Amino acid sequence: MSSGVRLLVLGKQGAGKGTQAVRMAAHYGVPHISTGDIFRQAAADRTSFGLKAKEYMKRGELVPDDVVIGVVAERLAKEDVVDDGFILDGFPRTKVQAEALQQLLGPNGLDAAVDIDVPTEVVIDRISGRLVCRTCGTTYHVSKPPKVDRLCDKDGGDVVQREDDTPDAVKRRLDLYEQDTRPLLEYYDGLGLLITVDGDGDPDDVFGRILDAVEEARQSRLSAPR
Ligand SMILES: [Zn+2]
Repeated sequence: MSSGVRLLVLGKQGAGKGTQAVRMAAHYGVPHISTGDIFRQAAADRTSFGLKAKEYMKRGELVPDDVVIGVVAERLAKEDVVDDGFILDGFPRTKVQAEALQQLLGPNGLDAAVDIDVPTEVVIDRISGRLVCRTCGTTYHVSKPPKVDRLCDKDGGDVVQREDDTPDAVKRRLDLYEQDTRPLLEYYDGLGLLITVDGDGDPDDVFGRILDAVEEARQSRLSAPR
């Protein structure tokens, strides 16, 4: 048995999921497995599922569950994960994927599913207030804009709001996420694996809350083995 952690991170767009997942991986010394990264890597390595996934992406189609699961399974079989554990970021997205992951890992294979919970209004404010430099991609927020009005501090490029970052568009994306993710949260809650962490406020505080909650879950797992 590995002494590392096996965690997955859930959270809506703008909740800070990716940032926290990277910090968690560094803290625990385990690989950060982000779906975007492993898809690119699997395609580059020409693994059997990687090549299949690439075909779908090339056609602009959604990669079906069995291929997504295959790519993740290939990554989870690698030595670093087997030895140390993992932080999964961006997978699973559906209940079917979650069930497949549970099968892959076995009944005690996952320590917890960490849901970084941020109120919808907060996320809408974070995203819809976001400004981006057209030239270099540096992001700003309307509450902390560039020093010279709407011109990038770094290169003087135009700093604009993305078309799909309007409050209405963000709200629509969040509603869809909510709809897709609720069954996932219920699934992990039913397994006693769901940890909900308040994701509002300073990222350092949120990180502290995540570590505390994970530690608590691991302790209670140790004192009451299933
Ligand atoms: Zn710029």
